[in-house]
Amino acid sequence: MRGFSTRIARAFAALFVFIAVPAAAEDEPGWSIAIHGGAGTIARDDMTPQQDAAYRAALQSALDAGAQVLREGGSAMDAIQAAIEPMEDDPLFNAGRGAVFTWDGDIELDASIMDGRTRDAGAVAGVTGIRHPIALARKVMTDSPHVMLAGAGAAEFAAEQGLATMPPEWFETERRQKALERMKAERLSAIDVDIKFGTVGAVALDRDGNMAAGTSTGGMTGKRWGRIGDAPIIGAGTYADNRACAVSATGWGEFFIRVGVSHEICTRLRHRYRTEIDAAQASVPLDDEGFPTYIVHASEFGLDAAQAQEEIDAVIADVGSLGGDGGVIVVTRDGHPLFSMNTSGMYRGRATSDGLREVAIYGDE
Ligand code: ASP
Repeated sequence: MRGFSTRIARAFAALFVFIAVPAAAEDEPGWSIAIHGGAGTIARDDMTPQQDAAYRAALQSALDAGAQVLREGGSAMDAIQAAIEPMEDDPLFNAGRGAVFTWDGDIELDASIMDGRTRDAGAVAGVTGIRHPIALARKVMTDSPHVMLAGAGAAEFAAEQGLATMPPEWFETERRQKALERMKAERLSAIDVDIKFGTVGAVALDRDGNMAAGTSTGGMTGKRWGRIGDAPIIGAGTYADNRACAVSATGWGEFFIRVGVSHEICTRLRHRYRTEIDAAQASVPLDDEGFPTYIVHASEFGLDAAQAQEEIDAVIADVGSLGGDGGVIVVTRDGHPLFSMNTSGMYRGRATSDGLREVAIYGDE
């Protein structure tokens, strides 16, 4: 009988002729990034050509900022922060400057960030006056023993860390003020006035194979009683795990919390990898002693975009089945940048080391 080591040697020899090599295993490792600026009822007829162009330009420059970090060999964490911060500064989006108003006329910001390499995470909820809540969330991750800080305590921590602050007027826009007034005057729900969610987010895979996800938002118009949505909740609005994917969500936060959307997507993908690997292993020919002629190794195996898309769509369908709406951006560990939404549109963009560089708004593009 041949020894165990002989079988292993044969297994590895055969591995190289059998397994499809994913992008990340090629000579120059690839990178990938996806961003969003919110999902919602976004129809061509409701947008002027100027508005359409303004959103596309804002998305493109955020995408380019993140892609540049990755192209130059930077980390996924730095790339998503570089993509999110310009959107926090841009009044077009419901994050940082331009965020929606609470019922009491304030602006309370939520954000979270997660490092897929270590599964370290940081989040802030209901903070005011912080120019870049995503930067504060990252500081919570790197410089505090906690994952999530809220309200006054988060502000105290931000001051200690020297985070940039801005006066209330800097965040406030007439458009968001009017949405609150309309909501109160016409007794509308947040969903009626916020037909376009404007949360921002980014997910990335860097050349070292590490992933990160981040999300930043003002929440929903007229929120009250300290309402917190999904965006700062790790596993709901944001999740990253090198074993599977990175996810950032936008939509009706209560439903995304109840489904645990971002974690659910990563879990489904992680199990899908396992299922596919087991199936591949089962199809490996056996030698004359009944042992597999090679061992399929997880790191050499990929899911194609369609397989990953199926899992992501199933989770968004689940959100829909409960009555919620919104969407997600996902980068898989193989570097597929994917979207899924049950709304008519989502401000979004994606870029990869293979030369993909696109932004889109409507569901049919
Ligand atoms: N998900 C956010 C929230 O519920 C809203 C959004 O995506 O714009 O707070």
